[in-house]
Amino acid sequence: MKALVKANPEPGLWIEDIPQPELGPNDVLIRVRKTSICGTDLHIESWDEWAQRTIPIPMAIGHEFMGTVDRLGSEVAGLEIGQRVSAEGHIVCGRCRNCQAGNRHLCIRTVGLGVNRPGAFAEYVSVPGSNVQPIPDDVSDDIGCILDPLGNATHTALSFNVVGEDVVITGAGPIGLMATAISRHVGARYIVVTDINDFRLGIASAMGADRAINVSTTPLADTMWDLGMKEGFDVGLEMSGVSAALHDMISTMNNGGKIALLGIPEHEAAPIDWNDIVFKGLTLRGIYGRRMFETWYKMLAMLQTGLDVAPVITHHFPAAAYAEAFTVVRAGEAGKVVLDWT
Ligand SMILES: [Zn+2]
Ligand SMILES: [Zn+2]
Repeated sequence: MKALVKANPEPGLWIEDIPQPELGPNDVLIRVRKTSICGTDLHIESWDEWAQRTIPIPMAIGHEFMGTVDRLGSEVAGLEIGQRVSAEGHIVCGRCRNCQAGNRHLCIRTVGLGVNRPGAFAEYVSVPGSNVQPIPDDVSDDIGCILDPLGNATHTALSFNVVGEDVVITGAGPIGLMATAISRHVGARYIVVTDINDFRLGIASAMGADRAINVSTTPLADTMWDLGMKEGFDVGLEMSGVSAALHDMISTMNNGGKIALLGIPEHEAAPIDWNDIVFKGLTLRGIYGRRMFETWYKMLAMLQTGLDVAPVITHHFPAAAYAEAFTVVRAGEAGKVVLDWT
């Protein structure tokens, strides 16, 4: 089968013919239809320090995908051949304390699809049956292939109660954009999104932000006054990993505010002033992955009741044009970029 492979220890990716993945008794073989490109894939493509440390070569990459069930291992029940599915890309051990407590997203032995085992940028991918998630008929293939990052957005946006709250989202990348739509869907009051990329800020407005501001020209504090906010934000969703954005967020939070952190801090992150955290009584929570499978349940339920994240998908390419697709993602004038494998 064809797959997009990290074949050599250097920048780049290559479409190669590799054997179809093995199918164990508990696995499902999925014929991949659509995939989307994640920041993780960019790290692997550019072969940065993290990728060199993490990715065994050769490796078929990719973890954001949807397709149809092609074959079922002998022990798999509850799925049908031809069914439209996506899958949770974290394969967990089931034995560690967190797994057994139902906190599988915090498994200490997580194996990542397209990172530690053959991924989904391929004609076929094999995943454990317990990771496979059916896609409802009223959710499109396009949305089906971005359920992984939509799950990150859902997990983050729902980590604190945002009903009737004023929410600041720093970072208008795809996950920040989807978190904007989710916060709107579940009943936040004001939603302010910050970034320095006007293309993405335009999408943020389309996805329900009251204000989408370029912080290189418009200070966040001014925007609060403009909206008539007198005290500060109640909930912050940090999606950028940029120190300046986190500092801005902390300084505009109300006392007792809550911050969910999904953005991975930049290399030379400026230290946080802990006085602000202590004296404001802030709660900070790191967010990783998706709750298995509560996050999947909630995002599909929201999609079926009017949550619209379609504006985040800005480009489609056939899989063979992957190089162009990666260039588009890297240039930043894009939301989610979808590759078609049919
Ligand atoms: Zn991803
Ligand atoms: Zn575990």
